[in-house]
Amino acid sequence: MVDGVLLDLSGVLHVGTRALPGAAAALQRLRGSGLPLRFVTNTTRNTRRVVGENLRRLGFAIDEHEIFTAPRAARAYLEAQRLRPLLIVHPGVAQEFAGVVQENPNAVLLGDAGEAFDYGHLNRAFRLLMSGAPLLAMGRNRYFMDDDGLNLDAGPFVAALEYATGVAATVLGKPAPEFYHAAVAALGCAPERVVMIGDDVDADVSGAAAAGLSGILVRSGKYRSGDERRLLGERTAVCDDLAAATAWVMAQAGR
Ligand SMILES: [Mg+2]
Repeated sequence: MVDGVLLDLSGVLHVGTRALPGAAAALQRLRGSGLPLRFVTNTTRNTRRVVGENLRRLGFAIDEHEIFTAPRAARAYLEAQRLRPLLIVHPGVAQEFAGVVQENPNAVLLGDAGEAFDYGHLNRAFRLLMSGAPLLAMGRNRYFMDDDGLNLDAGPFVAALEYATGVAATVLGKPAPEFYHAAVAALGCAPERVVMIGDDVDADVSGAAAAGLSGILVRSGKYRSGDERRLLGERTAVCDDLAAATAWVMAQAGR
């Protein structure tokens, strides 16, 4: 049975500045089913407000309050743990950390910083980690699909710092079970009756399964032939796109 649905954004609804074919209509069908929905993204190049605006511009009826983002989860974690981060983040998301004390940092927080990844920043992070600071990551996704093709995500840079320091990162976005459970709580459903739809086999589908949800891998966005072989957990399925995933979910939900 399915009582609620979580959806990834990039690679499911859109790729870069293009809506995926049929995705807006599929989302409308899913909404029409009456199943509660939330959106969960590790995108760290924009604030939640801008993510919402961009989706609405592409024709998706989504309120920003329905979107759970890794940067928001990271900010909440920093505040709860009273950490002063060295931020290695994209300029587009800096506003999400406005007011967070960053002087004399005692933690490293890393997202997909894009062109802002450089040796100086990474080396500063390295030195902080070597002196005992925790490594926090908004995701460890390997890559994502954008308008111009596949792009490196935060994961390879997280892995580089882990390799250099022997410090294991704490991930605050997907696939952290705490991140999934916060979104599931907003749905008001039991985790085992929630399905997560995404194009990242590790963070979205295997990650959701590890958090007690079921997961659907869509063959859109960053999907590469053979990704299915990396699926972990039994409560997983593979569909061509959001339209097919929607049909699968509605059949499971008996709608
Ligand atoms: Mg995605």
